Amino acid sequence: MTHTIHAEPLTSLCRDIFAAAGTPDDIAAIVAESLVMTNLFGHDSHGVLRVKQYITMIRSGMIQPRQRPQVGKRFGATAMVSGGYGFGQVGARFAADLARKLGGEYGIAAVSLGQTTHIGRLGEYTAQIAAEGLIGIGFTSGTMYRGWVTPYGGRERVFGTNPMSFAVPCLAGETLLLDFATAGVAHGKIVLARAKEKPAPSGMMLDRHGNPTTDAQLLDKGAVLLPMGLHKGSGLAMMMELIPTLLAGHRPIIAPDFHFGNPTLLLALSPEAFDDSTDFAAQVDALKSRVKAVRPAAGFEEVLLPGEPEARAYARRVCAGIPLPDAVWADLRELAKELGVNL
Ligand code: NAD
Repeated sequence: MTHTIHAEPLTSLCRDIFAAAGTPDDIAAIVAESLVMTNLFGHDSHGVLRVKQYITMIRSGMIQPRQRPQVGKRFGATAMVSGGYGFGQVGARFAADLARKLGGEYGIAAVSLGQTTHIGRLGEYTAQIAAEGLIGIGFTSGTMYRGWVTPYGGRERVFGTNPMSFAVPCLAGETLLLDFATAGVAHGKIVLARAKEKPAPSGMMLDRHGNPTTDAQLLDKGAVLLPMGLHKGSGLAMMMELIPTLLAGHRPIIAPDFHFGNPTLLLALSPEAFDDSTDFAAQVDALKSRVKAVRPAAGFEEVLLPGEPEARAYARRVCAGIPLPDAVWADLRELAKELGVNL
């Protein structure tokens, strides 16, 4: 069963819950907006489902709600940002803004974000860079507490779900956005399936004996997630684990207590710095049109572009509202009651 609610009241509710838990109003607004936007784009695994988790983390001291990001080291077009274990969404927005500015100045920029809690939807920040006419690339070591994903051929949790994202500017201020976990499926989607008492998608999990399973309830009983794309996804997951983590200054990489946070590396590339032609966005649109014109294979109705499923979910949900599983709605109501927030 679901409870449908429009984006605006949902954003206010989440903002008020964070504020009542000691978050400054501007930070509470950024985090609420980011989570609800993620629901609007159809990725419920990274939307307001997280409010309860974040409040628990504030209460245990894992999220410092008043902390604001700061630039640590700067060298040319590179910078290290520390989130100070404040909200990851705030740190990642700050890092993306810095990458965008440095990319505009130097033609290319790389900004790492360390000491960060969960940043949510990585594509939000690469799109923020692309909105200014630059190419945005993001790598995240997507581990909050411990790894979930086994290397190809194994059955032990080593990697986070480690997303990567590419955002490319198009004509008319639009963005071509690719944004995915290097696990076959984001961990949050199994959590969501578990909350809805539904099976996990097939081919994404092994039970603790190393046999394929779709039982989402096994998540806390030793199951492991599989990387996407067999050995190739496993290799990408390893790179996403290494590169942002080490460039954000986290060490040692395999200590048992290492896995806290969401170290992220954001790159910004200015097309004009590489090539004097001014038709970058037009060329992107030409390829998009070519891909859209491809005849569908058996079993498909059309070829979709990266970002199209999200744009369609947005168009639907912005009008019809966001369907929340009853369990998620019950958690929000419970939190509102506990914190004295008016529903
Ligand atoms: P997904 O598998 O639903 O889709 C990922 C990408 O594939 C999107 O760019 C989408 O537009 C594209 N896509 C989907 N269907 C398509 C189709 N039929 N044709 C063409 N393109 C298609 O996403 P996911 O891997 O479950 O990730 C979901 C979200 O979770 C992402 O926003 C990611 O950043 C986030 N995430 C965050 C963390 C973290 O630690 N912060 C970890 C994992 C995932």
